[in-house]
Amino acid sequence: MANLKVRVDSPKVRYSEDFIEAEYEYRTISVTEENENDRDTYTMTPMSTKLLIRTMMKVPKLGLMLVGWGGNNGSTMTAALLANKLKLSWETKEGLKTANWYGSLTQASTVKLGRKIKGEDVYVPISSMLPMLNPDDIEIDGWDISDVNLAEAMTRAKVLDVNLQVQLRPYMTQMQPRKSIYYPDFIASNQGKRANNIIMGTKAEQLNLIRNDITQFKTAKSLDQVIVLWTANTERFSEIITGVNDTADNLLKSIEEDHSEISPSTMFAVAAALEGCTYINGSPQNTFVPGALELAKKQKSFVGGDDFKSGQTKLKSVLMDFLVSAGIKPVSIVSYNHLGNNDGYNLSAPQQFRSKEISKSNVVDDMVESNKILYKPGEKPDHCIVIKYVPYVGDSKRAMDEYTSEIMLGGHNTIVIHNTCEDSLLATPIILDLVILAELCSRITFKKADTDDGEEFSGFHSILSILSYLCKAPLVPHGTPVINALFRQRAAIENILRACLSLPPENNMLLEHKVD
Ligand code: NAD
Repeated sequence: MANLKVRVDSPKVRYSEDFIEAEYEYRTISVTEENENDRDTYTMTPMSTKLLIRTMMKVPKLGLMLVGWGGNNGSTMTAALLANKLKLSWETKEGLKTANWYGSLTQASTVKLGRKIKGEDVYVPISSMLPMLNPDDIEIDGWDISDVNLAEAMTRAKVLDVNLQVQLRPYMTQMQPRKSIYYPDFIASNQGKRANNIIMGTKAEQLNLIRNDITQFKTAKSLDQVIVLWTANTERFSEIITGVNDTADNLLKSIEEDHSEISPSTMFAVAAALEGCTYINGSPQNTFVPGALELAKKQKSFVGGDDFKSGQTKLKSVLMDFLVSAGIKPVSIVSYNHLGNNDGYNLSAPQQFRSKEISKSNVVDDMVESNKILYKPGEKPDHCIVIKYVPYVGDSKRAMDEYTSEIMLGGHNTIVIHNTCEDSLLATPIILDLVILAELCSRITFKKADTDDGEEFSGFHSILSILSYLCKAPLVPHGTPVINALFRQRAAIENILRACLSLPPENNMLLEHKVD
């Protein structure tokens, strides 16, 4: 049996060689709203569903394939996996540094288990709650339209200290990105000079080559599962065209017919789905056209996205939550960014900037809509986003935000923030968490406890909205609320993991200390 650090002593949790099986009562509240004599009244009905939740014990041998492997994120992710696995340390002007996964929810943050009978609260790393992938066991590979090896890519990125780079170089020189799909129309024209590692042929031929790459990697490394993750440049949005990319069948037909409106990122989504691989989109564009989502569902594969939530937006989704839930009314949010890495260079083109602008714009909506005292229906704060390319600052993106709010009796409160984001060092642990959580989700299944024995366990929806915490523009199943507030997103992850162990949601009431 897996060497679990956390075990629950309860008749509702059964451990076996193959599974952890938890009986869980999922409690929700159904609300009806009526308007009587011009007054809204609400009736709340507590509801409860008894579930059996199974978590498979065996963690698969997993391979990660990055699209955009030779970019800043791709090379930093590779370096971080190696540096942690090899337990590297390196000298800097501030002293000796050692490899870590700071910024990773699964590796560097903790959850409260409870209290010792006499004494203090007990916290453990999130990764010790359920059997989870160990980053040291991840095999990495990928594609890039630029042919430089990963050691050169790391140098080009200018992210890591030189003394760390020197130690990683021998391992990373041997890593060579596979040839990729390049349609110049989708990313900025300024990327053209990078594109020297390209698959030629028709779209159908390209799709087959990508699928072969996945199977070849799987066989060569004896992997049980492969996750494909897009961390390549931001593309322009694709048009959604009836008959072209609106259904799974039309999308496959359009690839056969070499239609020009299928983006590279959607081509990878199709390849991943057809190979039964989870596919995650770390950039803002609409990779998941309706046809790609339908195909993933049909193939019973998972998807997640969009756009890593690393710096400015993460802070925004905390600050807005704080302000609105404190009863303060933000009326203007202005966000300036300047950055000097290749991502910034690509985003300096209007269509690619537009993708990012859309992704960054909606991140306050759920918080605004939650408070009818502050905002009338349809009312929103002014929200302006500016991104400029300034080569000198490299990967150290500067994000400057001004939040102006209305406070009591006509007053104003203005908060100004300057955030140096060190972009790839914030994005890399998020990539790791996306992979670890997506893999875990593929091992969790649910069944209603009080139905006939014949009923099968079923898994998560193919759109993994549990990954919202890690994404700027969370992808959720049609008709599902989009949650942007960071701590609600985190609570969802923590409480679902707790449910897998038949533990109630963390309530923070501490009644034992509050009642005489
Ligand atoms: P980067 O420009 O350094 O890397 C992107 C890589 O993708 C490049 O090496 C490029 O050659 C390659 N590429 C472009 N098109 C490709 C294709 N069709 N197939 C294969 N490779 C291709 O950028 P980055 O800083 O690593 O960021 C990557 C993506 O992540 C960007 O879209 C960015 O907007 C997104 N993102 C980054 C952060 C962050 O770094 N904090 C946060 C959110 C989103």
